[in-house]
Amino acid sequence: MPGTELFGKEEKKEINDVLETGILFRYNHDAQRNDIWKAREFENEVKKLLGAKYAHAVSSGSTAVACALASAGIGAGDEVIVPPFTFIASVEAVLFAGALPVFAEIDETLCLSAKGIKAAITPKTKAVLLVHMCGGMGQMDEILAVCKEHNLTLVEDAGQAFAASYKGTSVGLMGKSGCYSFDFFKIATCGEGGVMVTNDEQVYKNADCYSDHGHSHVGNNRGMEPHPILGYNYRIGELSAAIGLAQARKVPYILEKNREHKKILMDELSKVHGISFSKLPDPAGDSATFLNMFLPDTESAKRVVDEFNKAGVAGFNYWFLNMYHFINQWDHIKNLNVAAKLPIHILGAPQDYKNLQLPKSQEVVGRLISFGIRCTWTPDEVKALAKKIGACVEKAMAVHA
Ligand SMILES: *Cc1c(COP(=O)(O)O)cnc(C)c1O
Repeated sequence: MPGTELFGKEEKKEINDVLETGILFRYNHDAQRNDIWKAREFENEVKKLLGAKYAHAVSSGSTAVACALASAGIGAGDEVIVPPFTFIASVEAVLFAGALPVFAEIDETLCLSAKGIKAAITPKTKAVLLVHMCGGMGQMDEILAVCKEHNLTLVEDAGQAFAASYKGTSVGLMGKSGCYSFDFFKIATCGEGGVMVTNDEQVYKNADCYSDHGHSHVGNNRGMEPHPILGYNYRIGELSAAIGLAQARKVPYILEKNREHKKILMDELSKVHGISFSKLPDPAGDSATFLNMFLPDTESAKRVVDEFNKAGVAGFNYWFLNMYHFINQWDHIKNLNVAAKLPIHILGAPQDYKNLQLPKSQEVVGRLISFGIRCTWTPDEVKALAKKIGACVEKAMAVHA
């Protein structure tokens, strides 16, 4: 959670600018706001950082996924290929858009694979919601080729991969629309917030209206603005945007530190028997928010987790058992438990969610353990952690050597 570690005077200054005027709303009130437009500035900073033509800040990463889907034209009855390993918001966004999630296999990149996508395509498939997991990126050349061949819309949930890139292009900008989260656990935070990006003017205009009750944001009489489409309130407030702005400016520094720390960990741990790492299709584009290590199999990964717990090693995630990141624990999706009926209840699920066969994903996530990289670590702290991790893995591996 690097952004969280760096909350300081820069964030306070940006918040103060807003407090001086009291204009907490991102639109209008031109006369009172003393030219303070934090949401706009935040968006401009993101555009500059990522090389995006358009960026639109909203209230969360989850609403950014909703915006990315709706703006790209994904809606009721559309089959959308999704991964079984993601923060659950990706799948929720598809369901609440009225669309139908189709689960496909991931691979050692921790993202949907081209092969997995291909196997899940049906005549009703409209889109792929590619999730760039754990700071890295998918195998984009192959995935783009499958999308092109089958005329599928690519939407990217880069909630965990802000500032990651593939061959020089930021993830989130490889398809029709993309999105990032700025919640408290991401590389940069604004408390609660998210950003949708696109290089397509119409998609941007859709998002701009969709996230604010259809407002076209033309002219300066809010009540008299045209409303080309229906929308809802997914707006970000100026205070959150102010923090997002200060944090986005820190991302280049965070990237540098994350990468430094991850390199030390990988150099040390690659010498340890039993450890390998997730595949990075473009290592230079890694946002390095996580060290993603593989053990030989699920059983040895579980033994390593036990050793970590015994030794008091903290800061890791064993996603295989996590309630919010892996399909095995998503009983509410398998049973379609909801507060109120969704289109999927009427249209029918495109797969038997209770009996999905995703052996590759089970195998990959079963042997994955991820450590969150901190940007404020000292080199000595990183080396000490590597030693502890290595010792625990050696112990766990020795059991069955
Ligand atoms: C964090 C995250 C989200 C949701 O973001 P929030 O800001 O918490 O709503 C969506 N997708 C992925 C992949 C995420 O990691």
